[in-house]
Amino acid sequence: MNPDCDTCKLPINPDSVIYETDQWRVLLANDQGYLGRCYVTAKNHTGSLGELSDQQWKEYARIVTLLETACKKALGAEMFNWTCLMNNAFRKQPSKPHVHWHFRPRYRKDVSFGDLTFEDPQFGYHYDRDQQRNIDVKVYMGIRDSIKKSMD
Ligand SMILES: [Zn+2]
Repeated sequence: MNPDCDTCKLPINPDSVIYETDQWRVLLANDQGYLGRCYVTAKNHTGSLGELSDQQWKEYARIVTLLETACKKALGAEMFNWTCLMNNAFRKQPSKPHVHWHFRPRYRKDVSFGDLTFEDPQFGYHYDRDQQRNIDVKVYMGIRDSIKKSMD
């Protein structure tokens, strides 16, 4: 915990938690522009990928396998975009980056969840940063639970 780090100080909504290990927490993003979008965040303040410990990498590798498998099974995702950017942490000085991954499942075909349809018109290309979507809490919990169940 670094008291100057925005990510360390971020309150965790227990309803968004999909999975946890000693080193990582998987949270379902409020923005479901890409169905199943998650954040995978290091629990300990770690400033860059180069500073991750062997244990962090080991647990991260396991999460990648579990989360990708679950999103294929539960949501019908075909492939996944993992990005670790942290650019906004460098807008102010001193910068306090904190390793977290943006996880976006990608879909060749439209997919339905609850009574909503999710589209991925840019499939095969870089994701569209403007493709954002807030959904009602019931569908959100349904997505969370179906990914969670498939990770067990
Ligand atoms: Zn931090």
